[in-house]
Amino acid sequence: MKDIQKIRADFPILNEKVNGKPLVYFDNAATSQKPQVVIDAIVDYYSKINANIHRGVHTLSQVATDAYEQARLKVQKHFNANKSYEIILTAGTTHSINIVATGFTDILKAGDEIIVSALEHHSNIVPWQMLCERTGAVLKVIPFNEEGELQMDVYDSLLSDKTKLVFSNHISNALGTINPVQEIIDKAHAVGAAVLIDGAQACPHIKPDVQAMGVDFYVASAHKLCGPTGVGVLYGKEEWLNKLPPYQGGGEMIETVTFEKTTYAGLPHKFEAGTPNIAGGIAFGVALDYMNAIGFDEIAAYEDELLQYGTEKLLEIDGIKIYGTSENKAAVISFNLEGVHPFDVGSILDKLGVAVRTGHHCAQPIMNYYDIPGTVRASFAFYNTKEEIDVFIEAVKKAKMMLS
Ligand SMILES: *Cc1c(COP(=O)(O)O)cnc(C)c1O
Repeated sequence: MKDIQKIRADFPILNEKVNGKPLVYFDNAATSQKPQVVIDAIVDYYSKINANIHRGVHTLSQVATDAYEQARLKVQKHFNANKSYEIILTAGTTHSINIVATGFTDILKAGDEIIVSALEHHSNIVPWQMLCERTGAVLKVIPFNEEGELQMDVYDSLLSDKTKLVFSNHISNALGTINPVQEIIDKAHAVGAAVLIDGAQACPHIKPDVQAMGVDFYVASAHKLCGPTGVGVLYGKEEWLNKLPPYQGGGEMIETVTFEKTTYAGLPHKFEAGTPNIAGGIAFGVALDYMNAIGFDEIAAYEDELLQYGTEKLLEIDGIKIYGTSENKAAVISFNLEGVHPFDVGSILDKLGVAVRTGHHCAQPIMNYYDIPGTVRASFAFYNTKEEIDVFIEAVKKAKMMLS
């Protein structure tokens, strides 16, 4: 990465020490760190333009509204949505998925089928199970193989005219597999099913083009993309967003209210009840600007370098098993040390300043497949370095010495 030290200087937290050691932050798949411009955007909003949006006649309210709607346009441009009102600003991926899953309650009938990949995050499993309970629809699962790749031949056999919805993540947070989403979308559309792609883990690495994909719904969280927590996006094709009912009732989402009858606001406000995370939305726009200025091609290429380097070094250690070995993989390494509980490895790494995640990564079905309690997951971002990977490798070696 060009100017890696300059980029690192943008992230104040990277100068912090943890347990007396310089922080090596390899938990980027859980949440990314924030550059100073994003932190400043939040502080600036509350220091200079804080006002509620969309209602006020006064100047600050209009300035805040403009800034928030400007952010929506940035999100629209980033995802290449056709219309700005196809971009619903939400509280995050989980919220976005629930808007869609709840919205389908009156659309699905008993016996309809929903297909979901077995590589999903719990937030892309549970809402569909709840939808099935409400409607009598049936959940079908695309299994994956030892490498952590979806078995697309089984997907073919699951598709039928009963299939109404298909859900998959774009990149698996637990294994890093980049899923063949275009094939998933095209084949679903061929049987008339709608598709939701969970881009929470993909968006930090690649820039999705929702129109080129032809996807019906695409969701992501700002906080994995250098933005703040509590903000996310639901992209939906206009025709679908018009078909779905509102998710929550309240202010902002109405056109007229009487006790006899309330009419709903148009898009996007129909799905944006209540005062949103205004500062967060504005900061999300700034985060997208920041990452686009570095460039997603540059980011993806550099992260791939880190992934190859980290994988190679890790495999030099005896007794390492890596889960998720697809050729198409983002910068996530899920692994275990033979005979050692992942939690114990994670704890020792933490003492050495290295932040990794241990456990099931909100994807218990994947852990069940491999018959393990969990993994240690190191996930890299564009502000990480090979030198940090060296520190991490030494820490894993030390953990191995102490634990086995
Ligand atoms: C993080 C993540 C989610 C959940 O995102 P929230 O921001 O917690 O709502 C969903 N799916 C995937 C693939 C993720 O990585």
